[in-house]
Amino acid sequence: GQCVAVCPTGALMELDQVDKVWKALNDTNRYVIVETAPAVRVALGEGFGLEPGTIVTGKMVAALRRLGFDRVFDTEFGADVTIMEEATELIHRIEHGGRLPILTSCCPAWVKFFEHQFPDLLDIPSTCKSPHQMLGVLSKSYYAETYGIDPKKITVVSIMPCIAKKYEAARPELGQDPVTPDVDIVITTRELSRMIREAGIHFDHLKDEEFDHPLGESTGAAVVFGTTGGVIEAALRTAYEWITGQPLEKVEFEALRGMDGIKEAVIPISGRDFRIAVTHGLGNARTILEKIQSGDAHYDAIEIMACPGGCIGGGGQPYHHGNLEILEARANAIYQEDRSKPLRKSHENPAVIALYKDFIGEPYGEKAHQLLHTSFTQRRKI
Ligand code: SF4
Repeated sequence: GQCVAVCPTGALMELDQVDKVWKALNDTNRYVIVETAPAVRVALGEGFGLEPGTIVTGKMVAALRRLGFDRVFDTEFGADVTIMEEATELIHRIEHGGRLPILTSCCPAWVKFFEHQFPDLLDIPSTCKSPHQMLGVLSKSYYAETYGIDPKKITVVSIMPCIAKKYEAARPELGQDPVTPDVDIVITTRELSRMIREAGIHFDHLKDEEFDHPLGESTGAAVVFGTTGGVIEAALRTAYEWITGQPLEKVEFEALRGMDGIKEAVIPISGRDFRIAVTHGLGNARTILEKIQSGDAHYDAIEIMACPGGCIGGGGQPYHHGNLEILEARANAIYQEDRSKPLRKSHENPAVIALYKDFIGEPYGEKAHQLLHTSFTQRRKI
């Protein structure tokens, strides 16, 4: 499989958890919540003979309901929350003289890589949990509390484009006592295709359905997380408005898009130049981190994803064999989803606004730290 080449957790690629999902769905005592990453909806159709880049969001939701999940939520809600936290963290570091650049940390293959290879840089990645982990912990706290469900009865299943997310969900720091872990089971896009076939569902005949509320609401900023450059673009949409107090009219940051291995841009915000870099592939990541270590490069924020093209090219997706046309078709579908959303900035998501007002309080505040942030560990002696 291609994941061995791009992610250090390739050893886990055979860890098949479909049986565990069926078991949870057949257990009448379990309340089973499913969430789906942005990249899944632009690739799942390929498993049913549809063209790469076909957007199947509505059919995917319909299929998940037929499989028997009690609630169908969207990892994109977690992505919008990630931006609330990460944009606040960036502004906090700037205002308090914190260490820059901030590095995105939602790719677990990349997190494991820097824990092993760059232990002296452990204080620069964002401490935000990744979006599916945030959605998991919010399902077992905010959602459970609001709807009077015993969190111990909730099983959260993440559908991910990614093999490394299986390892991530098992990290002991990504859970809350006494209800652990944040996410119980991770299956890939390919495993979901198999479940749909096993259930005898005719995927192409399904009528579109909507995600459940409130953890199914999302903005265009959350969709673009699925492709390289998207996390930084989403963070900039929010950080720009928070720093300037002005509406951002053009939300597309073209310089951060496309398949180049390392992209750089200088974005002026309120008289300060923000120096941004975006990389995908761990070889490119190493190049850029070595430049930071040696003092040859100065950035304010860097997005790093382990897979070619970002999560659309993940090791759990329908096989693409490095075909650039397939990756570009999926990326175009991601940007089309973004354009089709009425709201395209994470801080405008009404369900996210309600979450902070009713439950979390301030972004990057005490409760946010307790539920939505994590820490990194040196995995090798310097
Ligand atoms: Fe997983 Fe995305 Fe990272 Fe690939 S880029 S390892 S799919 S999180």
